[in-house]
Amino acid sequence: MDTDQNIFKKNAQIVTEQLNNYLNDSKKGRLHTLTQNTPQKIADDLNLEALIRKGALLNDDFPDFLKKYLENTQHLHHPHYLGHQVSAPNIASSFADYIHGVINNPMAVYEMGPSAATMEKIVVNWMLEKIGWFKASSLIETNLNKCKGAGILTHGGSLANLTALLAARAQCTPESWTQGTPQNLVVLAPKNAHYSVAKSLAIMGIGYDSVISIDTDENEVVIPDSLRKTYTDTLRQGKRIMAVVANACATGTGLYDPIEEMAAFCNSHNLWLHIDGAHGASALLSENKNQLLKGVHLADSLVWDAHKMLQTSALSAVVLFKNHKHLAQTFKQKGDYLFFEKENVGFDLMGKAIECTKAPLGTKIFMAIAYKGEKGLAHDIDSSFNKTLTFYELITTHKNFECPYKPQSNILCFRYKPFTDNDDLQLKLRNELVKKGNFYITTTTINNKRFLRIAVMNNQTEATHIKALLKEIDAIANSLI
Ligand SMILES: *Cc1c(COP(=O)(O)O)cnc(C)c1O
Repeated sequence: MDTDQNIFKKNAQIVTEQLNNYLNDSKKGRLHTLTQNTPQKIADDLNLEALIRKGALLNDDFPDFLKKYLENTQHLHHPHYLGHQVSAPNIASSFADYIHGVINNPMAVYEMGPSAATMEKIVVNWMLEKIGWFKASSLIETNLNKCKGAGILTHGGSLANLTALLAARAQCTPESWTQGTPQNLVVLAPKNAHYSVAKSLAIMGIGYDSVISIDTDENEVVIPDSLRKTYTDTLRQGKRIMAVVANACATGTGLYDPIEEMAAFCNSHNLWLHIDGAHGASALLSENKNQLLKGVHLADSLVWDAHKMLQTSALSAVVLFKNHKHLAQTFKQKGDYLFFEKENVGFDLMGKAIECTKAPLGTKIFMAIAYKGEKGLAHDIDSSFNKTLTFYELITTHKNFECPYKPQSNILCFRYKPFTDNDDLQLKLRNELVKKGNFYITTTTINNKRFLRIAVMNNQTEATHIKALLKEIDAIANSLI
């Protein structure tokens, strides 16, 4: 073995050992979820500047370096981690990242990673099947006419939303690709649609303000009948509707828009319906919860993040289309060195993505699913949704807490009752809590009122942890008055 490989083997053991301890300690809640240190302190502790100048990272100090690195992380596997919606990856998915980091097979060109490209194909077809957009008899079907729908993995839900809206634009105004976007194009969406929707329109050159709000109820869920009114008003103003967007579910509240009703309206008015299921599309796996997305097969496109509920690390998302031609016509471009006619085996995804070089996202999604199988994954999703319902009951029966709605997913908002009319104090509760380091939660606003917010992202969190959370918030509140 040459020196480099000796160093690899020795340090791989160190990394494995430390990560194993990290997982153990995190899952048992033996440390803080987050210890807040300044960039200056972290750079000093880790000796970053000297290392960048002199190298020698993998010498005898490496174990100490890694230990300090891991101390300054957010602990997603911790039962008290209830923050942003990213998963605690399962170990098979973790191995996929490790393997990729060594072999580096960016697979948008089939020849650059045949295993990974094949896994992307099978994962996309599996997801299409969950919606009812896949008609072939085998998941490894590559003939799109037999498949019916099509999709592509992207580096995150934001890019996936942009891709879906570009496809909607290509359908509505095909000349946009060469001539630019007509300025009267708009998108109808609830006001709590993810900001990547408005950002996509800004990128397309029609501006952030081209999202027209559909009326929503007290919890920011679309009121089915209001779509008709927004539609009529919008047309009267001389606008052209490129797409209608529904949340499945909304990032802030975890509540689902009425997809079936919205789809019925869109289908009868020839409107493109896009479902933003970045967080909540994973409910499709569950026989008990898939009713939340009832009617989804009637939509035109759907976005689904695997790094939120499918136990893969960030980033890994998909955009799916009911009609495979809609993806094919989205990016009408040619790069001669890439898109030459060839006789080789496989398929190239490059012409169907915003990215050129692309990580083997399918590998980690595949490995995450294949670890426990689709039923195992469905069980975990069910369990996190059901637990959140239990936590809701715990919170609402506590005299000092209230929830604005009953949760539909694993996201739940609540508020400290004695501070009901004081948004600043709700925010202060969260900030003080996070500063202490025992819990990590977020906040959001619903109809301009501030709420505390939890997302139950790993299967370690139990009722005892939520009771401890309420107790700690209560204590912080008492110290504030
Ligand atoms: C998280 C989220 C997104 C953005 O996805 P990223 O992978 O973070 O880019 C979009 N829409 C919804 C509803 C989300 O919850």
